[in-house]
Amino acid sequence: MPNLAWYSHEVCFWHDPGQGSGYLPVGPGIEPLRQFAVDPDLRRAEGLVRMAGVLDHYTQVTPAPAGDDDLLLVHTREHVDRVEAASALGAGDAGVYAHVNHHSAHAARVAVGACVQATEAVLDGRHDRAYCLVRPPGHHAEPDRAMALCLYNNVAIAARAAQRHGVRRVLVLDWDVHHGNGIQRTFYTDPDVLYVSIHQEGLFPPASGLVTETGEGAGAGRTLNVPLPAGSGHEAYLAALTRLVEPAARAFGPELILVAAGLDAGGHDPMGRMMCTSRTFHAMTARMCALADELTGGRIVLAHEGGYSAWYQPTLVLAVASALAGLPEPPDPFLHSLEHLPGQRLRPHQNRVLAHLETHHPLLA
Ligand SMILES: [Zn+2]
Repeated sequence: MPNLAWYSHEVCFWHDPGQGSGYLPVGPGIEPLRQFAVDPDLRRAEGLVRMAGVLDHYTQVTPAPAGDDDLLLVHTREHVDRVEAASALGAGDAGVYAHVNHHSAHAARVAVGACVQATEAVLDGRHDRAYCLVRPPGHHAEPDRAMALCLYNNVAIAARAAQRHGVRRVLVLDWDVHHGNGIQRTFYTDPDVLYVSIHQEGLFPPASGLVTETGEGAGAGRTLNVPLPAGSGHEAYLAALTRLVEPAARAFGPELILVAAGLDAGGHDPMGRMMCTSRTFHAMTARMCALADELTGGRIVLAHEGGYSAWYQPTLVLAVASALAGLPEPPDPFLHSLEHLPGQRLRPHQNRVLAHLETHHPLLA
């Protein structure tokens, strides 16, 4: 059995972007409502994992807040100061659609701390696999600005921390439904970090994550974007892993795998239009663990990113946690509502994206 670690901290559940509707703050035409992005929902996810007995398979770790030495691996001093100042005011936007409350700066440092400390523990051999149930999310945060709920780029900082720890090549797979522009930008010219993103085509940020964005300079061929059309489900995601992610990983030869494991490609998510189920996330997690066993001595760290369905996110976290522990697919009371839908099949317009990348991406062609 793999030695598993579960990183979570109460303060990550106290971060809350405040009242609004959908992802927008209260303003003209926008009535007050509890936002989709509130993070007390994550506590419910952890509760389900505990109730299912799956958390018993993990060593639970309470992470310490990251220090400036960690944050500055990716971010500018000005960016860190802006996040701290906005949070100290108790409300406001720390960047672009990155609203904060009094606890946000602390929560953001703890989220980074969890990812960095999990990575270091895995590299030191204290654990084989780790899951970081953290908020705020990170993959949109750029070196110099917070963006779209993301304050610090948790996974990008963890990749840099791994390199500081002596690892050279890191594979970052990002299956959040949105494109991880912040991770891509951090490593776009870096030959030693392969960034692979499977996301909904053209969703967010606009015009970001195109198939033609493949890295630059020394990083040429080290970015692989898989923009799947809206409505893609189980078979399209698994085919992307089989036909693109796994061969690219083998060609690259990572020493560590990090996963920006958003759950907003789930079929009930209000922020995306994909069809994934608990079976999809269980299968993707199991496949990435197998890939880690093959390529990195089993070393893999998953970090929570997006996921905004109050009712389905906990089930998806349970599926990921179960697969990471080598356990079978958990019961999913919502599966019947998604699994029969035709979008679960690989359809020709989805296959065209995969086929294009198979023949044109520098790592695969
Ligand atoms: Zn997302």
